[in-house]
Amino acid sequence: MTFLGPVVSVLVSVAVDGPYSYRVPDGMAVTRGSIVLVPLGPRPTLGVVLGLPKDNFAHNRLKDIARVFDVPPLSEELLKTVDWVARYTLAQPGMVLRGVLRSHEALEPPRPITAYKRTGFEPERMTDARARVLALFEDEMAWAKPALVGASGVSPSVIDGLVKTGALEAVALAAPPPVLPPEPDFAPAELSGDQQKAIEAIRAQDEGGFSVALLDGITGSGKTEVFFESVADCLRAGKQAAIILPEIALTHTFLDRFEKRFGQRAAEWHSDMTPVQRAKVWRGVLSGEIRAVIGARSALFLPFRELGLFVLDEEHDGAFKQADRVNYHGRDMAVVRASLAGARVILSSATPSVESRNNANSGRYAHVRLESRFADAILPDVTAIDMRAEGPEKGQWIAPKLARAVFDALDRGEQALLFLNRRGYAPLTLCRACGHQYQCPDCSTWLVEHRFRGVLMCHHCGHEERAPEVCGSCGATDSLVAVGPGIERIAEEVADRFPGARPVVLSSDMGSMSQIRDRFSEIARGEYNLIIGTQLVAKGHHFEKLSLVGVIDADLGLAHGDPRAAEKTFQILTQVTGRAGRASRVGKAFLQTYHPEHAVMQAMIKGDREGFYAHELEVRQQGGLPPFGRLAALIVSGADHGETFTLAKALMAAAPLAEGIRRFGPVDAPVAMVRGRHRVRILVQSPKEFDLSGYVRFWLQNGPVVRGNLRVQVDIDPMSF
Ligand code: ADP
Ligand code: ZN
Repeated sequence: MTFLGPVVSVLVSVAVDGPYSYRVPDGMAVTRGSIVLVPLGPRPTLGVVLGLPKDNFAHNRLKDIARVFDVPPLSEELLKTVDWVARYTLAQPGMVLRGVLRSHEALEPPRPITAYKRTGFEPERMTDARARVLALFEDEMAWAKPALVGASGVSPSVIDGLVKTGALEAVALAAPPPVLPPEPDFAPAELSGDQQKAIEAIRAQDEGGFSVALLDGITGSGKTEVFFESVADCLRAGKQAAIILPEIALTHTFLDRFEKRFGQRAAEWHSDMTPVQRAKVWRGVLSGEIRAVIGARSALFLPFRELGLFVLDEEHDGAFKQADRVNYHGRDMAVVRASLAGARVILSSATPSVESRNNANSGRYAHVRLESRFADAILPDVTAIDMRAEGPEKGQWIAPKLARAVFDALDRGEQALLFLNRRGYAPLTLCRACGHQYQCPDCSTWLVEHRFRGVLMCHHCGHEERAPEVCGSCGATDSLVAVGPGIERIAEEVADRFPGARPVVLSSDMGSMSQIRDRFSEIARGEYNLIIGTQLVAKGHHFEKLSLVGVIDADLGLAHGDPRAAEKTFQILTQVTGRAGRASRVGKAFLQTYHPEHAVMQAMIKGDREGFYAHELEVRQQGGLPPFGRLAALIVSGADHGETFTLAKALMAAAPLAEGIRRFGPVDAPVAMVRGRHRVRILVQSPKEFDLSGYVRFWLQNGPVVRGNLRVQVDIDPMSF
């Protein structure tokens, strides 16, 4: 470690361009990666020391570093990752760093907990409250103050009083036991031949260095057991491993499975933790005490010291793309960081992204396949229900054929799942008398009725209003109609048509994470037999008795003019139909569709996933679309539509010329207004080898000045438009 000084350059974790120089005060030692507090404007700001400044500064005008934290410096690969992500996404490096440093609390050493013991002296004056406290002490036992207050039901001042009279004394509680490392050989699974081949193929890749494997196998083929072996390899090699999941709701199942396999729990990491819990994990990862993490996308930026493995489960999932502040795709950033760290990546999926399939086809990634379901269960038998010919009666959403299959499944004591990827009761409320449609006041979207809660709600900005009884526009009574179904409406139909069933509705707005977790265990225990759910139930959860899946609207995702619409629809339909028929049961799935001849429906019915990927890759190649070309979206937004559009046009006119670059727009974005801001979009398409980030950066730097409330946001590799 080289100590730097007397002046160093510090990257501050705020939205400013470039690092600043600071003086290292006498007696302070910093090195590259040291986390420091520096004065910046009125407040001290967290930053990280990058090195010696590039320019010569007049040292005496510089401010001093206020403090250096007593934690190990950030690793070289993490510093490089921050730089890379900023350059690629066009985010300011300080904003990327902010995602790394997270919370200030994590840097402070954990405060020792004060506890109390009896001294043996009796207080001069005994009160009921005091007696209640003292009665809790047995032998040499020490009580932490909050626990003592909780158990005795007295106010904290009673305890302070007892300390003053000498009846209790404060003692420092021993530090909590260190996190025990997972044991690689605790309970390994007996791998099948296919699984053994898969892990060998992964191991055969560049030993101890950077490599990416696409673990490609249908749901239930045993991928998890395979990547657990790779986690074990990583732990044996003395390195840290992270399993990254697209959905917080999946972490608990995984933590349990991990504990069974490795004897210890992995640390968890996601947004649904308290700052104190997060701080503990952050510090543990940085100190190296924590060897394995299971978490959400942001775990990619944890300060691992010795990163050995990233597993991205359900790697195709759109949730890996972060859509605010720093616009990054978790899968791509995992590959970038691993390449800088010399670590391994396993991308696991039953329905890989077209990007990853292409990388596997071209040999950039190892293509590791698991062909059959573990224990020889078979894929569900998928049938299309042509809604034009055999659709439901008016006012219903479940076709007769599907309804019969539900009855049969329930009769046999099995479970059925009705899937509709739309929360709420109905996506549109309309007045029959005047034609008024309920829209969000701040977005160009319809308000979705949530009948259960009696509100209309905007799914873009969260705006809510009470569900109206008379038309807000013409005042007519009894004229409002709900148009189209959401899952609450399906639940209503279910209650009507399957009165003997035990239904449950599952979507992300149906309670807290722990309530939803409870529902899942109740389903697993068989307390419900008819599940009505959104994509929340499509992912990762296995129910032994589930033998039937009905997709209410299989065309839902195809409607958008999005080049990934077919891919996304294929993925979600495969995921959700894959819930049916695990273990020994043959499952059945029905797709209600108006387009049974569509390539996606045909691939589903024939179970022809290879055919689907071949077809989709060809379509993309012909259009120069990802992964054969690059895309970037420039979103110009502002309060006034005219001004926003004018800026977008000026921006378009200022586009630098470059060979092979195509620009489209400006046009109103598909959701043309969000939270009161108009959105106008320019799309840029380039060949694959082109530095599109660099091009867009140059364009913006030399483009029109962005004033007032106008803004230009860049989305490299947009996932939808
Ligand atoms: P995937 O991750 O591909 O969906 P899983 O790894 O979850 O598949 O495996 C599906 C089921 O089969 C799980 O219940 C798992 O415990 C079981 N399983 C997989 N591999 C083995 C094995 N080698 N020995 C015993 N059970 C296994
Ligand atoms: Zn809104």
